[in-house]
Amino acid sequence: MVVREGMDRQGIGMTSQRTRERLLERLFEEGVRNLRVLEAMRRTPRHLFVDEALAHRAYEDTALPIGHNQTISQPYIVARMTELLLGGGPLDKVMEVGTGSGYQTAILAQVVERVFSVERIHPLQERAKAVLKDINIRNVVFRHADGNWGWPQYGPYDAILVAAAPAEVPKELLNQLADGGRLVIPVGDKEQFLTLVIREGDNFIHQQVEPVRFVPLLAGAIRS
Ligand code: SAH
Repeated sequence: MVVREGMDRQGIGMTSQRTRERLLERLFEEGVRNLRVLEAMRRTPRHLFVDEALAHRAYEDTALPIGHNQTISQPYIVARMTELLLGGGPLDKVMEVGTGSGYQTAILAQVVERVFSVERIHPLQERAKAVLKDINIRNVVFRHADGNWGWPQYGPYDAILVAAAPAEVPKELLNQLADGGRLVIPVGDKEQFLTLVIREGDNFIHQQVEPVRFVPLLAGAIRS
């Protein structure tokens, strides 16, 4: 994947190179060590995934609104989740639930072979598609649907990343996980924990990683 040079430079005028480097340093300080993840984050122009009015804040380590009551995930969380997903080795097919702005999708697409991304809010999905096309990311396919049901057609997946929190891990997602596969998902209602689930045959090993705050995983798909 090559991020178009012009795009990247354009953003550097809006947010200094120094600000971007500081984000990378901060991720490292917070314990992110996977070099492929850090490199993907270095070269991905996050300001293109937020509204122009917020572009100057795009390299702060914080979640930002993207409309429709949703947020672009905090960079640290994106890095952490991607790193957890990659923990088992190289990944071919990865499903993402909750495309949102498409930023997490862009990072994933640079470190795995293929991404299958599901989003329930159609306009968000359309915008994410356009940005990914602009920055020349091509190994992603999109589905407008309720991600509680996964995307059975292309499963099983080597890994699944969920960017919105259910009260409990949806059964269908577990079903669509390959043997040895890894699912990274925030789970909980008032208190949420980032959770890593590893499939071993018919057993699912759950591990709580750290407390997090995500928007809820909702039911049904909507057009506007
Ligand atoms: N990683 C995204 C996070 C977006 S917020 C980013 O960085 O931009 C979570 C996203 O999950 C929202 O876009 C929301 O619409 C979506 N979502 C919530 N419930 C869903 C469901 N059941 N199926 C698919 N997407 C869902």
